[in-house]
Amino acid sequence: MLQFPEGLKQKALEEAEKLEREGHEVFVSCSPCYGACDICLDEARAVGAEKIMHFGHAEFMQVKTDIQIEYLPYFSKISAKRARKMLKKAAEMLKKCGAKSVSLVYPIQHLHNSKMAKEELEAAGLRVLLGMGGKHVRHRGQILGCDSLAATRPKADAVVYFGGGKFHPTGIPSQKPVLCADPHIMDAYWITEEIKKAEKKRMGSLLLASKAKAFGILVSTKCGQANLGGARLAKKLLEKKGRKAAILVANELSPTSIQNFMLFGAYINTACPRINDDTEAYGKPIVNLADLKKLLELMV
Ligand code: SF4
Repeated sequence: MLQFPEGLKQKALEEAEKLEREGHEVFVSCSPCYGACDICLDEARAVGAEKIMHFGHAEFMQVKTDIQIEYLPYFSKISAKRARKMLKKAAEMLKKCGAKSVSLVYPIQHLHNSKMAKEELEAAGLRVLLGMGGKHVRHRGQILGCDSLAATRPKADAVVYFGGGKFHPTGIPSQKPVLCADPHIMDAYWITEEIKKAEKKRMGSLLLASKAKAFGILVSTKCGQANLGGARLAKKLLEKKGRKAAILVANELSPTSIQNFMLFGAYINTACPRINDDTEAYGKPIVNLADLKKLLELMV
């Protein structure tokens, strides 16, 4: 069973044909996949697959299963010459804001480019630190949408995110200035204000949720996201505060999967913490389990 994240699904046929030429029967999961937290065990079991080949991500966790799992991270190809030029601009911007040391972080797709990025920033006179993230990351400096500890752990004046898009850097807390050095658009730009905006939005959700009378507690069955213990605890604590709560279970949590539960005033999210980036689409405030304590403190 081959599994690809959304951005790599166009490679499915090429990879399937390669394996078929070697004599394997090949299936491709077409369920949505956003990270290595989401291994297509159900699809593999349903067709009797012996092995899952998960493309695009490094291992997230040990999965207890009799199906063999192989992770095949995908590494972005970029022009080193153009990236070095862009990093020079990034270093100038950092120095202008007074930074002498930086935490360098990157998504797994740029693991092989991180050495070059470090060298270039050091050549510009900056002290570059590569922190170690939490239990789901495998390399110093690597970050995930749900784990930016590699950015905040080192004692540095600023953070440099070397990679594409805004999904990963908007998950980094705004306590230090965050600069994106994007080798896909070959540009460097500050993202700190956008992060602050997202943090304010989360605080707004927290305040709104504190007034809700009934809560839906979201649980995903994805192997790297499932947290039934957290959901049970949240239900107990909310009920202690006089609120009603029900645990809602799905594999894929989306606005469509919960839109008809109109009785809930807010949701507690125990699954991927980036679900609450889409609070507007859900139409109700969403509070991550990590913020439950703050929410309970706000309740009267
Ligand atoms: S939990 Fe969310 S942010 Fe973390 S790896 Fe999975 S999809 Fe990405």
